[in-house]
Amino acid sequence: RPTTAPRALAEKPTGEAGVTLPRTAKVGVLGGGQLGRMFALAAARLGVEVLVLDPTPVAPAAVAAKQVPGSFRDADAILEFAKQVDVLTVEIEHINTDALQLAADAGVDVQPLPSTLKIIQDKFAQKEHLERFGVPLPPFMKVGLDSGSRQEVGRALGFPMMLKSRYLAYDGKGNYVVETEEDFEAGVRALTENLDEHQKAEGLYAEGWVPFVKELAVMVARDRDGNVITYPVVETHHKDSILAELECPAPIPPEVQARAREVAHLAISKFEGAGVFGVELFFLQDGGILLNEIAPRPHNSGHYTIEACVTSQYEQHVRAVLGWPLGDTSLTCGGCSMINILGEASGEDGAEIADALINRALPVPGAYPHWYGKEGVKPGRKIGHITVTGSSLADAVAKKDRVLGRMAAEEP
Ligand code: ATP
Ligand code: MG
Ligand code: MG
Repeated sequence: RPTTAPRALAEKPTGEAGVTLPRTAKVGVLGGGQLGRMFALAAARLGVEVLVLDPTPVAPAAVAAKQVPGSFRDADAILEFAKQVDVLTVEIEHINTDALQLAADAGVDVQPLPSTLKIIQDKFAQKEHLERFGVPLPPFMKVGLDSGSRQEVGRALGFPMMLKSRYLAYDGKGNYVVETEEDFEAGVRALTENLDEHQKAEGLYAEGWVPFVKELAVMVARDRDGNVITYPVVETHHKDSILAELECPAPIPPEVQARAREVAHLAISKFEGAGVFGVELFFLQDGGILLNEIAPRPHNSGHYTIEACVTSQYEQHVRAVLGWPLGDTSLTCGGCSMINILGEASGEDGAEIADALINRALPVPGAYPHWYGKEGVKPGRKIGHITVTGSSLADAVAKKDRVLGRMAAEEP
């Protein structure tokens, strides 16, 4: 167990490699939602204290962390919060990275580095960065506001294309499928209606349409010395652009699994700082892999690691940001599946539907329900999940179908 004494804030070199923080170090997390909650629970098991900065009255993470009320977009709140912790990390990328950079310049240990968070939170800058290092990507282009720019993008990428918001995107909310040239204008309007003129001119980019066969994801961990390790490949199933279910290991040939891990490894080796990253990928008809996007934090497609891997993505993130040795990423079961519990209705009706699912999971061996303790249930909101482990992937999928009350042959 690391025993180095904590160093005073002022003399702590920012993001230094080789630094090992003691178990008594305080970890600050920007955001206290379900990812912060599962992170705090993993940290608590290791005896590590966690503080979360979150504006909601009672953040989900507050079950295992001290909540400091405040917004992770507010510079003053972040700088004040930074004074109370030994290392600062995030559970969401839509944070004020300029404030994090200021904190880092003042000697606060931020992991991963603010520069990494700044690149990744801008989906266009993220793609430009990855392209420079030869990471395979869908074709992409910036979209200007003049019609000349739109014509150029249309000619280069063809239709349909995916118009995307550069900032603040989640659950597909910043995306618009542009079917034809005539549709382009409506897409730009839909994605920029709440932006000011500057944001309008800077806010969008477009990607060529990817006719993927499957969507995959790989969790990746990076330590302070830049060592990178990957988790097994999962296949993700989205419903209305929100992750609904996943399977692990992804039912794809071993060489495609290896390729997916290789692409994810390459991508994360090109960013600085320590932590866990979620890498979303497309698997193409010809066996090729393209990277869709990266999240610089634990990820929904990595919840399965809590029960199905030697080291969960949350424990791994604790280890990474504290400079501890990274843990084994192997599966401890033959296969697993995960179901997201999304609010289907508002208020008590929504909670009842979710309870019914959890009640069906309780008697199934190897089914692990998780409840996030959010204030209020709303349609489409992630309120919990269930991981099901099995002796094989087929066994896990059969048990998941029992939980869902679905006939085995039905597609997700
Ligand atoms: P998240 O909640 O994962 O952060 P997001 O809002 O950032 O999602 P993306 O991951 O960019 O959105 O896209 C959401 C979904 O849209 C993808 O999972 C995929 O199903 C589809 N998609 C994205 N880009 C393309 C593309 N270029 N071609 C075809 N489909 C795409
Ligand atoms: Mg995203
Ligand atoms: Mg995504």
